[in-house]
Amino acid sequence: MNSLRLLNLTVLLVSVALVGCDSADSEDNTTTTSDGVLHSAFAEFDSNNVSVVLSGSEVIIETNGLPNHTSPYWSSEHELFVEPTVTTYQKMAPGDIDDFVGTYTLTVSSSPEKATNSSSTGLGAIGIAVSGSVIYNDEEGPGIPLDGAIGSLDFNGAHTGPQSFHYHLEPISFSDDDSNLIGVISDGFFLYGRKCNSTGTYPTDLDESGGHTAQTQHSESEEYHYHIENEVYLGSYYILFPGNYQGTASGIR
Ligand SMILES: [Zn+2]
Ligand SMILES: [Zn+2]
Repeated sequence: MNSLRLLNLTVLLVSVALVGCDSADSEDNTTTTSDGVLHSAFAEFDSNNVSVVLSGSEVIIETNGLPNHTSPYWSSEHELFVEPTVTTYQKMAPGDIDDFVGTYTLTVSSSPEKATNSSSTGLGAIGIAVSGSVIYNDEEGPGIPLDGAIGSLDFNGAHTGPQSFHYHLEPISFSDDDSNLIGVISDGFFLYGRKCNSTGTYPTDLDESGGHTAQTQHSESEEYHYHIENEVYLGSYYILFPGNYQGTASGIR
């Protein structure tokens, strides 16, 4: 208990220290501490929902899990509520976005590296999106493919349950057949849209995880990152991240 309290205090102090130089950091990706550099891609995360703190050589990403865009999964009183379009009230999963009260925290290396062997993703959150909500893989339960739940997904390929709102498919509110940043996967590598900024088109050199090493709009040299693979799923969808992890994944709690 004592060590937990101490850790919380340390995180709080680091947050306060970073908030103090926020304005200077926003245009400058060379924020350094004695150990690590905060990657400029983290500036894309919605600061209303997500806090990003560099602590030594680690980056601590904490989110309230709420998306910064419209969805039929908000409660009808919420200002971001919209009527369902690609799903219906009959097909929607139980629960509203705003039922979730909590946080998700992911700690990754500030300079992640590929692991010797890839590892499979699991159920639950496998990444945090720039919107504030979390990223799931291509399963809807233990060994249960997404197919059966496809009708419950909203226009961003997301739904609620069993816990918070989460994305399975290309979230068109912030990436629609482009090279925009989607979020960070729990091994610390970034996930981008179907196109790569390095060429302006669909990459052709992706590995089995949808990853490759190339320059992005957030890097001055080549670095490993993932893309949504440009492979149509069930006629009109694109799966966000079927896996595996190519780096060493941390849990999202
Ligand atoms: Zn789901
Ligand atoms: Zn790329």
